[in-house]
Amino acid sequence: MGNLLEIDNLISVDNNLNKISEKIQKGERLDFQDGVNMFNTSDIHSLGKLADYKKRQISGDKVFFVLNRHINPTNICVLSCSFCDFAKKKGDKDAYEMTVDEILNGIDDEMNEVHMVGGHHPTWEFDYYIEIVKSIREKHPDLHIKGFTAAEIDYFHRRWKIDPEESLSRLKEAGLTSMPGGGAEVFSPRVHKLLLPGKSKASRWQEIHKIAHNQGIKSNCTMLYGHIETIEERVDHFIQLRDLQDETKGFLAFIPLQYQTGTTQLTDNPATPIDDLKMISIARLMLDNVDHIKSYWVTIGEETASIGLNFGADDLDGTIKKENIMHAAKAKSPGGLARDKMVYLIKEARKIPVERDALYNEVNFYND
Ligand code: SF4
Repeated sequence: MGNLLEIDNLISVDNNLNKISEKIQKGERLDFQDGVNMFNTSDIHSLGKLADYKKRQISGDKVFFVLNRHINPTNICVLSCSFCDFAKKKGDKDAYEMTVDEILNGIDDEMNEVHMVGGHHPTWEFDYYIEIVKSIREKHPDLHIKGFTAAEIDYFHRRWKIDPEESLSRLKEAGLTSMPGGGAEVFSPRVHKLLLPGKSKASRWQEIHKIAHNQGIKSNCTMLYGHIETIEERVDHFIQLRDLQDETKGFLAFIPLQYQTGTTQLTDNPATPIDDLKMISIARLMLDNVDHIKSYWVTIGEETASIGLNFGADDLDGTIKKENIMHAAKAKSPGGLARDKMVYLIKEARKIPVERDALYNEVNFYND
């Protein structure tokens, strides 16, 4: 494995990157214009080197992954976000609702984490979600249960009048250990109005993560990119996340989520691998206070995800077993990856595979 990469001799054809390189070496925070300039650069290699340098300062040559399972208890949803191919209405041919037993049957003892998100179900009462979490906890006392986006927590309030303080503390008591980062998509009010008018607003997403962090529930953060958002809206999203992290220090990882065109077809110009690598690199450089950046193989494919490990990402996410949401939108990646395949992809990127739990405690090294 390589030594810590020095970047003091990095000379880019893009003078803006040279200025950014100087700031990074001095440990200075990047600003809005730096973010925009990085998205506009044509020197993807130098950008990747800067991001890899920053990544090595934080996690050395390690790249993390987790043995996990995604469970989506239902795809029935009262909303119809324009980018979503997952949601169905009650009575639709492919609509489903899982029982607690069906959920439990999907979890085995080898897993370290279950990741659970679903549709905004019209009639499932909040107590059913408590029952799901409690049942998982009883059967798997050591399993990490990451569940419910801020949008779902907000929906429990809108539907059942249970405010986020109460729903989160009851879920935590039942066994919830952290929250996923989905639901915000892009913070821009313009994008929210056009694509997800009924969903909770960005400010509400932030408020709910703040409440979770104050209750000791760590969470992830994400951005859905590659649809109608502008570069400026991406950078603004990063800066808002960074400000919140300065305040709470509750985010574990950032996950760039590439929009899958599926049947929703919001754009004729979906994200390319270059765009995916820029997202990973710029996330690493802008979010200087978030420890982990994922190269999310589910949306960008194993090949680009593996390259992303040299562009600032230090996490390949998990084995997942059966991914539903992005595959409903025809994601081309497999439904899950075996542990050996994760190890192989990380080693191919010349990094050290480290199996982790959901809180980034190291479980296993694969450094032969
Ligand atoms: S993104 Fe979530 S809230 Fe929106 S329609 Fe899909 S499942 Fe429902």
